[in-house]
Amino acid sequence: MQIYVDAPLGKLIANVASSWANQRRQSSLCVSAPLPYDPATMRIALLFAVSVSLGATAADTPQQWRADKRLIDMHEHIEGLTQRVARAVKIMDTVGIGIEVNLSGGTVTRGASDAPSEFERNKGLADRLYPGRFLHYFNLDYKGWDEADFSERAAKQVEDAVRMGAAGLKEFKRLGLYLRDGKGQLIKIDDPKLDGAWKKCGELGLPVSIHIADPRAFWLPFDQKNERWKELRDHKPWWFGDTNKYPPRMDLLNALNRVIERNPKTTFVCVHFANNAEELEWVDDALSKHPNMMADIAARVPEIGRHDPTQVRALFIKHQDRIMFGTDFQVYDRLILGSSGSEPPPTDDDARVFFEKHWRWLETRDKDWPHMTPIQGDWTISSIGLPNEVLRKVYFDNARKLLARSLPLPTIKAVRIDSDFDLDGKLANAAWKKASTGWIDAQSRDCTPRAKVATEVKLLWSDNNLYLGYRCPYETLSTFEPPQLDKERLGLWDKDVVEAFIQSTPGEYTEFEVAPTNEKLDLILWGEKRDFDWSSGFQSAVNVDEGAKVWTCEMKISLKALGKTAPQKGTNWRINLYRCDKAQNAYIAWSPTLTGTYHTPAKFGVLAFE
Ligand SMILES: [Zn+2]
Repeated sequence: MQIYVDAPLGKLIANVASSWANQRRQSSLCVSAPLPYDPATMRIALLFAVSVSLGATAADTPQQWRADKRLIDMHEHIEGLTQRVARAVKIMDTVGIGIEVNLSGGTVTRGASDAPSEFERNKGLADRLYPGRFLHYFNLDYKGWDEADFSERAAKQVEDAVRMGAAGLKEFKRLGLYLRDGKGQLIKIDDPKLDGAWKKCGELGLPVSIHIADPRAFWLPFDQKNERWKELRDHKPWWFGDTNKYPPRMDLLNALNRVIERNPKTTFVCVHFANNAEELEWVDDALSKHPNMMADIAARVPEIGRHDPTQVRALFIKHQDRIMFGTDFQVYDRLILGSSGSEPPPTDDDARVFFEKHWRWLETRDKDWPHMTPIQGDWTISSIGLPNEVLRKVYFDNARKLLARSLPLPTIKAVRIDSDFDLDGKLANAAWKKASTGWIDAQSRDCTPRAKVATEVKLLWSDNNLYLGYRCPYETLSTFEPPQLDKERLGLWDKDVVEAFIQSTPGEYTEFEVAPTNEKLDLILWGEKRDFDWSSGFQSAVNVDEGAKVWTCEMKISLKALGKTAPQKGTNWRINLYRCDKAQNAYIAWSPTLTGTYHTPAKFGVLAFE
């Protein structure tokens, strides 16, 4: 074990060459250099992976994700009324969901005298009441379908939606089943008139969530022997067994696959387990064939849970980058927990149980237990107990990557402490226990999840200083040897470092970097201009635990160096937190910039002094 304790930062004497600015910009690009493959390295890497799962990622558990409200529910429907949105948030807080995707955003069609659209009203209300807790998908307006220019009109709706802040496009199961043209013919899922909308979604990076077809039983005779009888009895329009009126179920699924094939740049999230929860092999095949297809599990755990859990588990592991958590939780005048009928309205506590049954199914190996949506049928399900690294993809990593361009900026709290303390580099001081946690765990360039290097970060503040603590799991350290501790090393970012970019005043920000050797660097920036001579006199300490394969870092930065005005309780600054791990090609961020450089102040999140 090596411990480097802070040495006072010497005055930077090197000349700041004018090319540094350019160097800096280039080197913070996230270049994807492949890791050299070598069997010996791989063997060592495997050993490391074991110790990482024991040590560094102890807090990387479903319980912790829920405590930190990291989960994203990809499939919800919330009516745009204050009390409905408030009720949804209360339940989200109880069960540990951070962001809900409301698929019922509405159309973007403006009203008479340019009155705000349904979408603008719904999104506006939720953003005003609970900023950062909801993303909204918009729904297509089919008005004018019979006109020759509908395709262009639909593409224009997508453009408007992006401008209004839509996170995606949701199509309900209207196509092929309910929507009819002026001649009374059903509008087909693969009607070329819709390609304008699908293509535009791909161009603008808007994912499409699409529901077509339904469970097989909805095409079987409408009688008490139907296994979905309770549900069908209460929803007669869900029965599609009349062959004069409705196409066969597989025709619908095949039509959607043709759409997915001819729009390879558009991501289609096929809801309800790819609209075919009953046929695992079909789902496997469809996902394998179409890289632009994903699936949510909304309202289909009762159905998926009937299959052999070993087979389901294998399917989830095989397609772990393509399956997302969703529930079809709905808040209208009553709650709907996946589906509903004439039964008494569920309570908030029923909603809690509904979510907890999802955790039980995904996280345990329990056999034959009653599922979460009784109206869907009288049978039991068996859990699939996914490993944590797959679970986190299903719960939030895949959704974050998919929704990266519309994710709300994150907030990290700096917790107030009464007195200053000396750094030990090990986050051992009791004060750290008070701090809340943020995670640096996605590639900054494109939000690709990087769970193996997930870096925990904590912030504290006193009257005089801001403290930052990082816990970094690693496989192989890349550092400059011997370390240069008496002066700053320019280019420190070319090897392993943790970084903080802190902005107290618009138009300028400060940057701090520390390496596992305790080499460090600070500078101040105004747009493209940067001053490496600037010195905050910040202290740092690091500890490398070679047994656990974790290096930790503490920084103590004078508040005077950070801003002209001292923060108070309630002050908000902007911040972004990063890490570079050369050996794993990890250039990761707390708030991914999506630009290929860390220097993107628009993507800095919020530093809240509490
Ligand atoms: Zn739904």
